[in-house]
Amino acid sequence: MSSSALMATYSPPDILFERGDGAYLMTQDGDKYLDFITGIAVSAFGHNHPHLVAALIDQAGKYWHSSNMFRIESAEILAERLTKHTFADRAYFANSGGEAVEAGLKMMRRYHFDAGDTKRTRIIGMKNSFHGRTIATVAAAGNPAHVKGFFEGDLGFDHVSYGDIDALRAAITDETAGVILEPVQGEGGVLPAPEGYMNAVRKLCDETGILFMVDEIQCGMGRTGKLFAYEWSDIEPDILAAAKGLGGGFPIGACLATEKVAACMVVGTHGSTFGGNPLATRVGNAVLDLVLEDGLLDQVCRHSETLKSGLQDLVDLHPDKLTAVQGLGLMVGIKCKVPNVDLLVKLRDNKLLTGRAGTDVLRLLPPLNLTDAHIDEALGILNKTLKNW
Ligand SMILES: *Cc1c(COP(=O)(O)O)cnc(C)c1O
Repeated sequence: MSSSALMATYSPPDILFERGDGAYLMTQDGDKYLDFITGIAVSAFGHNHPHLVAALIDQAGKYWHSSNMFRIESAEILAERLTKHTFADRAYFANSGGEAVEAGLKMMRRYHFDAGDTKRTRIIGMKNSFHGRTIATVAAAGNPAHVKGFFEGDLGFDHVSYGDIDALRAAITDETAGVILEPVQGEGGVLPAPEGYMNAVRKLCDETGILFMVDEIQCGMGRTGKLFAYEWSDIEPDILAAAKGLGGGFPIGACLATEKVAACMVVGTHGSTFGGNPLATRVGNAVLDLVLEDGLLDQVCRHSETLKSGLQDLVDLHPDKLTAVQGLGLMVGIKCKVPNVDLLVKLRDNKLLTGRAGTDVLRLLPPLNLTDAHIDEALGILNKTLKNW
C-alpha cells in the first residue's frame, strides 16, 4: 500500500501504470496488463487511441476553456449528434456521471413545478442501484453504506426492488415526480432489466404522468451493443444520463432529455463552469465517431457472444468456483462461489485487470474495440487462475 497524501477513499494496489496501448496498460517496471475493466467502462476504446489523442491534442493547441458564457462549437455539435441518434431533443453537459444524474433529478422536479404540480417532488429509485456519490445521487440509490453519516431521512427518494413492477405501481403517489433506474445495473451486479420491465415502467409512468429517467452512465455509449441500452426495449425514456465511456477517459457527463421536459431548464435554473468544455466535447465527438462507425455495434454483439460462451465453458469447467454468466453486450458479470475480490486479485497477479460488482460478481468491461485474440487471452488467464486456485 502506498502511503500517499491522498484521502483514503480508495485503496489501490501498489502498481503504477506508465502508459497504455489499446487493450493493455504498462507499468514502469515493464509489466503488461490486459485491461478488461477499462477504468469501469470509461476507456471504451482502450488506451492511447490515435483518433482520440488527435482530437485532444488538436483542441489543446487551440483553446481549452471559455465557459458557457460563450458558445462552444464542439459542445453544440456533440449535442446535435447525441440528440439525432437518440430519443432526446436537448443535451446538457456536465463533468461526471454524478452531475449528469443530478441534472436529471433536478429536471424531474422542475418539470412538475413549472406545470403547477408543485406537490410532485419525490423520486423513486431502485434498490441495489448506483447513481454517483453526491448527496442527491446517493439518496437516489439509497445504498445504506453510501448514505451512512452523511444525512438522515430519505431526502425525497423512495426505493423499490428492481424488476418488481407491482412494487413500483404501489410506490407511485400524487407526490411522485419520476422514476430513475439503470437499464443494466452495473455496481449492483451487472444485472439487465428483466424482460418486459422497461416497457412496463414506461407504461406506468405514462398512466400516472410521471417522468422516466434512465442512468446509462455505465451501460450506454455502445457498451451493450446499442448506442444506449434502452434501445433493447421498445420504449424511449424522458431523461438519460451518460458519462463514463462518453469521454473515452476524458471527464465528461451528459444529461439528455426530450423537448417537453428540457423546456423547464431555462436560463438561471442550472449550470456548470466546466460542463461542455471544448477539450471534453472535442473528445466526446471523437468517441462518438468510433461508436457510430459502421459495424462497431454489431462487432460488440459478436464479441459478447464469443466472450460469454467462453465464460460459460469456464463455469462448466469450474462449477465449484463460478456459477453463472450474466450481462448484456460487453458488460459482463461472472457470478462467483469463491470471493470475487480474491479472484480479482489472483487475476491481476496473472496480468488481467477486472472489477467486482455486487457481493459475488466479477465484472468484465473490456474495450469495445477488442479482438478475438484479447478474448482468448483473457479466457486463458481466467482458466489458468481457476485451475491453480
Ligand atoms: C459510475 C456511475 C455513476 C457515477 O459517475 P461518476 O462519474 O463517478 O460521478 C452513476 N451511475 C452509474 C450507473 C455509474 O456506473
